[in-house]
Amino acid sequence: MSDRFDVAVIGLGGMGSAAAAHLASRGQRVIGIESHYPAHALSSSHGDSRLIRLGYFEDPAYVPLLRRAYQNWRSLEMRTRQQILTVTGVLQIGRADSAIVAGSRAACQLHDLPFEMLDPARVAERYPAFGLDADEVGLLEPQGGYLRPERAIMAHLKVAAEGGAVLRFNEKVTAIEPDDAGVTIATPLGQLRARTVVVATGPWIAELVPDLKQVAQPIRQVVAWYQPGDVFAVTPDRMPVFLRDEGEAGSYFGFPAIGPDGFKVGKHCHFMEPVDPDQPNAPVNERDTALLDDFVARRLPGTAGMRRATTTCRYTMLPGEDFLIDRLPSDPRVIVASPCSGHGYKFASVIGEILADLVIDGGSDLPIALFSLAALQRARGRANTV
Ligand SMILES: Cc1cc2nc3c(=O)[nH]c(=O)nc-3n(C[C@H](O)[C@H](O)[C@H](O)COP(=O)(O)OP(=O)(O)OC[C@H]3O[C@@H](n4cnc5c(N)ncnc54)[C@H](O)[C@@H]3O)c2cc1C
Repeated sequence: MSDRFDVAVIGLGGMGSAAAAHLASRGQRVIGIESHYPAHALSSSHGDSRLIRLGYFEDPAYVPLLRRAYQNWRSLEMRTRQQILTVTGVLQIGRADSAIVAGSRAACQLHDLPFEMLDPARVAERYPAFGLDADEVGLLEPQGGYLRPERAIMAHLKVAAEGGAVLRFNEKVTAIEPDDAGVTIATPLGQLRARTVVVATGPWIAELVPDLKQVAQPIRQVVAWYQPGDVFAVTPDRMPVFLRDEGEAGSYFGFPAIGPDGFKVGKHCHFMEPVDPDQPNAPVNERDTALLDDFVARRLPGTAGMRRATTTCRYTMLPGEDFLIDRLPSDPRVIVASPCSGHGYKFASVIGEILADLVIDGGSDLPIALFSLAALQRARGRANTV
């Protein structure tokens, strides 16, 4: 059997669709295989909106990648003639010494990014949806905003197809078997050959990369949309996207109303409930909605919102909560990309470029040491996980 494709991309969600686009645009013979349909409801990349910001409180080392991600999102918009990224500013609320506020401030200062510190009165005047305690502040990063993930996936797939990629949907890859001459990829419809494989299967990553079974943990997430009494308090000009640090009680995120269901709210990691990716998500229950309703009542008093819709989604958590993008030591022709610990979508446009670099050049000039298997092993040691 001769090599038919240069590269097979398995999983065409956030990361895989971007990889297919970058690889096909750089002249690779690409096949992309997706077990469902793009941006389906069991994936990690549905639900209308994803936050994007530059002053990364998690680690300032992400900032150069974010600058590149912004450029790539804008290029994708120009290429496909649609809006994918909307800048609203991102308001990060908490005590001045909280992880989110202090971390964002440090990242902005280190990378010379604009930001503004707002006291509770100033926040109330400018953004009436939010209620701040007297000892809280708001850090406004003006370049933050939101992405439209479903639209972005379709845009990346369009670019891939225009570059000659073969895209197959509703076909699950059941095995990848490297040998001396390449890699065989098996699906229920038969086998195909490629020189290199990119495994971007999100919550299902451990099915094809069993070494990640104890490491990459899919967890259940719930988000809800609320229709406010005052519709004008939650439009993108009066309500930026936001993060809220509640200290030991965790952190929340939200988006202005960009559709008829109103504004959207979720809690990072929700209840940390592990899921089997092959099973349907457990339906949203009263405990889920009570958590989010309570947050809206306490922290968004200016909205007096009525819950209108809910959905479940999945994070794929790694020890250390960074990403994993690397070749497998057992076979460097297999490249793993995606477990992104619940904060990866904003990077999809640059992760696609990184994956193309790894496939074509064997390495990337972009700073990705943080996402290596070696870094993951160190994080596992620190987290004292399996
Ligand atoms: C509620 C929620 C809110 C979030 N908020 C943010 C945010 O504000 N900002 C941010 O940056 N990130 C955010 N994230 C995280 C971000 O959305 C994820 O990191 C990102 O979507 C992961 O993309 P992925 O390509 O790894 O996974 P997916 O998009 O799930 O793609 C994996 C694909 O692989 C396919 N697949 C699986 N197995 C196989 C197989 N064997 N054969 C073929 N195909 C297969 C699946 O069907 C799926 O389509 C959020 C996530 C959730 C759930």
